Amino acid sequence: MKNKFAERARIVKSSETREILKVTERPEVISFAGGLPAPELFPVENLKNACNAVLDEEGAASLQYGTTEGYIPLREAISHRMKGIGINSTIKNVLITSGSQQAIDLTGRLFINEGYTIICESPTYLAAINAFKSYDAKFVEVVMDDGMVMEELEKKLNNHPDTKFIYTIPDFQNPTGRTLKLERRKRMIELANQYDVLIVEDNPYGAVRFAGEELPPVKHFDTENRVIYISTFSKIFTPGLRLGWICADETFIEKYVAFKQTADLHTDSLAQRITAKYMEIYDMEEHIKKIKAVYKTKCTEMMRSMKEFFPKNLSYSEPEGGLFIWVELPEGIDSTHIFTECLKNNVACVPGTPFFPNGTQKNTLRLNYSNMSNEKIIEGIKRMGEVLHRELEKELTLL
Ligand code: PMP
Repeated sequence: MKNKFAERARIVKSSETREILKVTERPEVISFAGGLPAPELFPVENLKNACNAVLDEEGAASLQYGTTEGYIPLREAISHRMKGIGINSTIKNVLITSGSQQAIDLTGRLFINEGYTIICESPTYLAAINAFKSYDAKFVEVVMDDGMVMEELEKKLNNHPDTKFIYTIPDFQNPTGRTLKLERRKRMIELANQYDVLIVEDNPYGAVRFAGEELPPVKHFDTENRVIYISTFSKIFTPGLRLGWICADETFIEKYVAFKQTADLHTDSLAQRITAKYMEIYDMEEHIKKIKAVYKTKCTEMMRSMKEFFPKNLSYSEPEGGLFIWVELPEGIDSTHIFTECLKNNVACVPGTPFFPNGTQKNTLRLNYSNMSNEKIIEGIKRMGEVLHRELEKELTLL
């Protein structure tokens, strides 16, 4: 048979990283590779109660088709959460999506024509890169330390007047764990207004802050309704229910609704009702507090172990929330090689290269601390430390 695929099937390949990560699923491997929440934090018993209540009280409706916009009480609860973080919205501004990944994909569909430019952090979230690539976007990367460097962003906006939107993950970014400073949030809005571009603020981790001061989202400073805010229940509740949302100007939401209809008609009715019921019966904020306490301990344990077991000439981010730590190895060290050597020691991390949309930097690693027990964190970092000491010394003798 001749090739029947559309051109975009060539652009989007099953990511190399996903392929290598399959190996990390072996039970003997301590994995810091994925981005999975801690399973012990899923509120299984309370979810059973919420689920039973939904099926008892509104069984048929929860199994019926629903509206594309989403279940109204859930949209109300989200709108309330949005107000709590400084985003004024009503349910008309909220669309429930099937995970925030769908919101990202619909954003690509809605705003990107072939060759359009997107400005993003360097590095950025891999599945957003792939989603936007499938719509043939071009990526312009902006260096980051405490979030995007605004002088660089301004230069890039100047050099790329065709830019459609800035894609940013301001809080505890995936993959770096870094956070955009307050002043830079305001500046980003000023620049977006000045250059007339949209901002897509992807914020799955903002609610999981376990240290430092709360910061308002970029959308809080939005004076011209040009920020499309995307978030999710995945990190504050459970990823398996696949519930995310978009909070944006009504005119955007109407278009998203039209596109979502063609994708899946609507998000799972039962999952939406169970989540709304859970929030009605239980205290979601209390649940998030528990998550933060556990992640704080895990992150502290990982940082402490890294200080003890890793070579001293590495630098790494010190996150105040979220799920990830970013490690920068000395120039010339290839993190894919480190990954392979770590795997021989039954410990896994993710090489950083795929997180750079234009594939440039090779000496970085992403570590996840949310999914492993404290004991495994210590043991895994020790094993990684052995590999890093050995490989860095080898590199020195080659110089
Ligand atoms: N955005 C970012 C930055 C992420 O890290 C993730 C998943 N880890 C998502 C979006 C998608 O999450 P979900 O579809 O589970 O809401």
